[in-house]
Amino acid sequence: MLLPFRRTFVSIAATLLATTSIAAQTPASAERRVLVRAGRLIDVASDAAKSDQGILITGERITRVGPYAEVAASAGGAERVDLSRYTVMPGLIDAHTHVFLDGSDYANQLLKQSIPFRTIEAVTAARAALDYGFTTIRDLETEGAMYADVDIKTAIDRGIIPGPRMLVATRALAPTGMYPLSGYSWEIEVPAGAQLVDGADNLRKAVREQVKFGADWIKVYADRDNYIGDDGKLHTLPNWTDEEFKAIVDETRRLGRSVSAHATGVEGIDAALRAGVQSIEHGDGLTPELIDRMIRQRVYWCPTIYVGVRPGVTRPPLRDQMSEMKRKAFGEAVRRGMGELIAFGTDAGGFAWSQNPAQEFAYYARYGMTPIQAIRTGTTNAARLLGREKDVGTVVAGKLADLVAVEGDPLADPAALTRVKWVMKGGAVTSR
Ligand SMILES: [Zn+2]
Repeated sequence: MLLPFRRTFVSIAATLLATTSIAAQTPASAERRVLVRAGRLIDVASDAAKSDQGILITGERITRVGPYAEVAASAGGAERVDLSRYTVMPGLIDAHTHVFLDGSDYANQLLKQSIPFRTIEAVTAARAALDYGFTTIRDLETEGAMYADVDIKTAIDRGIIPGPRMLVATRALAPTGMYPLSGYSWEIEVPAGAQLVDGADNLRKAVREQVKFGADWIKVYADRDNYIGDDGKLHTLPNWTDEEFKAIVDETRRLGRSVSAHATGVEGIDAALRAGVQSIEHGDGLTPELIDRMIRQRVYWCPTIYVGVRPGVTRPPLRDQMSEMKRKAFGEAVRRGMGELIAFGTDAGGFAWSQNPAQEFAYYARYGMTPIQAIRTGTTNAARLLGREKDVGTVVAGKLADLVAVEGDPLADPAALTRVKWVMKGGAVTSR
């Protein structure tokens, strides 16, 4: 069983002490061999589950997968892990998280919490993500906490704290006046949730700076101020001139990185596609025409549905209308063949980390995907978006041993993905 999240959150010191003793935090030694017995295996490479499978792991990688009896016969003295009561799957991937947000009031976090305090919270968020079964995340900007995501990532890589493998976006980019905090007296200098930059040359410099300090991805805010037009579509005010947006993408690509664009309305998505970004975040206002352009350009979509529909939250009417538009756009995207370009992304941190981001899977199934399609958003599709498909996303020989065990059958009920009982990352058990 997992440690309940609340304990992780409340008792940071106790958790850290406890986790340092978990084998999982020390990278698996090169010769260590582990044989996992899976009651059922969804390897995601194929559509169906297979029963009574063996997964042999040597060091941090999977070396053999097949019927348990066959794999066991060749496993010699490997350590045994019995998961015969569970369904085993690849470790999950969330391609849109914010470990530096805690789901509480945004302005309060920026104005009243120091970056060291927020980093302590981010440590607990990273641990929560891993316990939920997310062995890889793309964390899409620190919202004012500068480059501290790089420190979290480094601490995880060195085994100092537990957490998923991370791809980080550092500060994100927005133009002057177009990202919070705003609305304060001009006499008071307030922090900004993104790096505010204007003009193509300055944007190239900002991209270079962010990459210099560790950004794996560049996150840009493409639009703001949503409204529904007379045509019934979701419109927005675009943030950048084409020259600025193209400079961001061009410089990022030149440095071997990719661009993720927050874009909700028609104008923002259109501008992001013209500039050549690699993923659209949110995309509430996607139209059939924009969906077809994304398919042609091989641009991924992170829908972030749960954050906008979760129960127990009062929202302005426009927010609910946007969620309804997103529900329709999702169904349309699946019908038009975009399924393999939809990457699981939740905006976790936009809601408290005590809520399991894996609840997002059930919405994908409800909105038009088959369960295996929904599972692929958070495994193979997200792995491709992140350029990590050689290492993660399926349970096959050669890949990193990132595995989760869930109770129940996610192919019958994707909500089973919220019941992860055991997590292995890179051959080391991190949660049980
Ligand atoms: Zn976000």
